[in-house]
Amino acid sequence: MNTPHVVIIGAGFGGLNVARQLRNAPVQITLIDKRNYHLFQPLLYQVAIAGLVPSQIAYPLRTIFRGQKNITLQMGEVTEINLEACYVRLNGSVIAYDYLVIAVGAETNFFGMDSVEQEGFQVKDIQKAISTRNHLLKMFELASREADEEKRRAILTFVVVGGGPTGVETAGALAELISHVMVKDFPDLNLNEARVILLEANDHLITPYPHELRHATFELLRRDHVEIQLNTKLVDFDGQTITLGDSSQIAAHTLIWTAGIKAAPVLGSLGVKRAGPGRVPVTSTLQLPEHPEVFIIGDAAYLVNGNGQPLPMLSTVAIQQGKSTARNLQQIIKGEKPKPFHYKDPGLLATIGRNAAVARIWGVSFSGFIAWVIWVFLHIYRLIGFRNRILVFVNWAWDYLFYENQIRLITKE
Ligand SMILES: Cc1cc2nc3c(=O)[nH]c(=O)nc-3n(C[C@H](O)[C@H](O)[C@H](O)COP(=O)(O)OP(=O)(O)OC[C@H]3O[C@@H](n4cnc5c(N)ncnc54)[C@H](O)[C@@H]3O)c2cc1C
Repeated sequence: MNTPHVVIIGAGFGGLNVARQLRNAPVQITLIDKRNYHLFQPLLYQVAIAGLVPSQIAYPLRTIFRGQKNITLQMGEVTEINLEACYVRLNGSVIAYDYLVIAVGAETNFFGMDSVEQEGFQVKDIQKAISTRNHLLKMFELASREADEEKRRAILTFVVVGGGPTGVETAGALAELISHVMVKDFPDLNLNEARVILLEANDHLITPYPHELRHATFELLRRDHVEIQLNTKLVDFDGQTITLGDSSQIAAHTLIWTAGIKAAPVLGSLGVKRAGPGRVPVTSTLQLPEHPEVFIIGDAAYLVNGNGQPLPMLSTVAIQQGKSTARNLQQIIKGEKPKPFHYKDPGLLATIGRNAAVARIWGVSFSGFIAWVIWVFLHIYRLIGFRNRILVFVNWAWDYLFYENQIRLITKE
């Protein structure tokens, strides 16, 4: 009787944490997602470079919430959010809410470059990461039967666009896939002809990181023979040739785009002001101004931090905002005031390759083996599901000991 109905859109890092934290609250929850699983996006690039299989970084929602009594799961894509009538539309019907949490995340931003969107590869979701893996592996097969050196070099040129953490991790892992694994699989192929090029429009890599870590990243990538081109803008890719801002060209069959994201399209149906790459400005309590019954969190929300900068689109922000929103919902239901959200920065981490990562934890910057060990254990710890943690650990240990990426399957012609 009169149990408030909380509808949560999105079971990513933000939405999942709201739903879990409300497990004992006097509310009825409907959690909606277009997927039937929670995806650990920070390891998607490992799927793309044949290091992990998708089931090791994704976990079924119905398993996660098996024991939770106050939740109903709905698989489907929300196509409309009506703030005046308090309902969301999915699968041709509507669901009314008392409170709404919007945690729909972000999608890739190609900044209007249609050719790059059509011909390039991505690591934004499982399907795209698998397409990238299939394509990468096919390039080695193709090169192994190509007699013309110029053509072979173009097939073996891999260009990653975007020097953020995902681009850096992808480029480093790809370089090591070539130098540690493919050299053994293709002994007759001269892999000195292979190139991994990292393009970045800015004058440095990994912008949010301090200077010493940017420098360490640069050096670690160069150690792995990644060619880094800073201050370099991509303008076109037709599947065979990359054209840069200064009109120069690179013959390459592979472009992996990691250079931009924008908030999810369903936010457009809110009809409210947007900021940054399509995010929705929220109050300090993560509520929508004029609609305090609506919370927006994670990549979808735009909130300026104490230092005057918008909070970054990171899983740590989404997780903390999910927990804060669950607490605030319970406060509001009790008739109390919600509390402002304050982000506690847990530090920064990015891996570049075997034994190589950069980290800033508790204000201390360091790089190399120790940072890499922390990265490995933290990512294993943060994966959902005991089985997944064990499998990923065994996989990585195997790869580490035997210089292997085990998932070298081409699953589409
Ligand atoms: C390749 C990659 C690497 C990353 N690496 C890191 C990293 O190393 N460290 C880090 O902290 N962060 C990293 N991030 C960023 C991090 O993944 C995001 O900041 C985080 O996922 C945001 O959480 P969220 O809950 O806002 O959205 P998400 O986790 O993206 O979840 C959104 C959910 O909403 C669902 N959804 C969207 N639209 C609809 C709709 N209309 N109807 C129904 N469901 C919908 C989606 O299916 C998804 O499950 C990375 C991201 C990517 C893509």
